[in-house]
Amino acid sequence: MVKVNSNYLKLKAGYLFPEISRRVNVFCEANSKADLIRLGIGDVTEPLPEACCRAMKLAIEDMESHKGFHGYGPEQGYLWLRETIAKNDFQSRGCDVSPEEIFISDGSKCDSSNILDILGQGNHIAVTDPVYPVYVDSNVMAGRTGSADSLGQYEGLSYIPLNAENNFEAEIPKKAVDLIYLCFPNNPTGSVASKDQLSKWVDYANEHDALILFDAAYEAFIQDSFIPHSIFEIDGARNCAIEFRSFSKNAGFTGTRCAFTVIPKTLKGKTANGDIVDLWSLWNRRQSTKFNGVSYIVQRGAEAVYSSEGRAQIKELVSFYMKNAEIIRDNLSGSGYTVYGGKHAPYVWIKTPTNIDSWQFFDFLLNKANIVGTPGSGFGAAGEGYFRLSAFNSRKNVEEAMRRISSL
Ligand SMILES: *Cc1c(COP(=O)(O)O)cnc(C)c1O
Repeated sequence: MVKVNSNYLKLKAGYLFPEISRRVNVFCEANSKADLIRLGIGDVTEPLPEACCRAMKLAIEDMESHKGFHGYGPEQGYLWLRETIAKNDFQSRGCDVSPEEIFISDGSKCDSSNILDILGQGNHIAVTDPVYPVYVDSNVMAGRTGSADSLGQYEGLSYIPLNAENNFEAEIPKKAVDLIYLCFPNNPTGSVASKDQLSKWVDYANEHDALILFDAAYEAFIQDSFIPHSIFEIDGARNCAIEFRSFSKNAGFTGTRCAFTVIPKTLKGKTANGDIVDLWSLWNRRQSTKFNGVSYIVQRGAEAVYSSEGRAQIKELVSFYMKNAEIIRDNLSGSGYTVYGGKHAPYVWIKTPTNIDSWQFFDFLLNKANIVGTPGSGFGAAGEGYFRLSAFNSRKNVEEAMRRISSL
């Protein structure tokens, strides 16, 4: 009989979002008239920017003629898009990133898991706790961990707590690690990392020959100019970091699919017999073999994000969601809750009331206010005692949800 990848069996059975759906379904069966407001899953709700739609419609027209038709494109993405990104997202911020170092993809969820293809076994891996579950589960699937304990923490992973006590700052580990996943602005806590904190990580990584995997999917939500948008704003990052970016949250491409990964040509790794190789070549080889690129139409849509109309429309989208986040923060604080995040990220991270755990608070909001959020414990053991509300919703729903919570 065919053998399966048994690592999949180590994955925790009760994954977060299926368990939320199960509880919501039970509730809806018993309360068919309830008007649920979903502030749970991190998906956008506003339509695509008009500039992106227009560019994609023109691209479809290109495809209708022999002259404008595009078949397979470069696996790394079209150079015109990579050049636009390098100029606007990096060079304009003083980051030394060239178009060749940018790899266009269909999502940073896949890139942040696929990157393990080019990394060897035996790396000591650190993740924050709470964490975006993709980083952990893809390491489990790739056989880079042992089994989970009763808290759901995997043997072989180092967990770096992010909590109110440490101001949601990822502290440098005492034990040496080889691979570190950082996500700022952070999902789920909504916290950000200052230039100082990121510099400490870059210095640590360079000192220990470690690699930082930096997920900047939420950089567009940063409101203060002194908070770094990219790890490449930090001196030395070209020798120790890979960055993941996505058009999902800034431009609403969650269903359209376009993202990119930056791998500096200066980034090195070591083979099993001690030879030094560059990671860029390995990723380029990986993508050329296993990936056939993002559609021409979608890449034209992504290019329009950087046009002057596109930029203005995205700014408006981000402001819209950030206003929602402000309404959530203000109302919850007004109702006596302690809230974090929501200032540079579309997530508000709430401390659950004393003696109420994350899932109890989930059931409480579902039953008493018909609001669906996300229990912090679903993102890791250190998320226990917290709860995430997302700002991705209509103004009407956010206001109604806050009215309900205020009158509890
Ligand atoms: C939404 C999100 C992404 C984006 O993933 P895509 O596959 O590009 O849609 C990446 N990282 C985090 C932490 C996210 O929350």
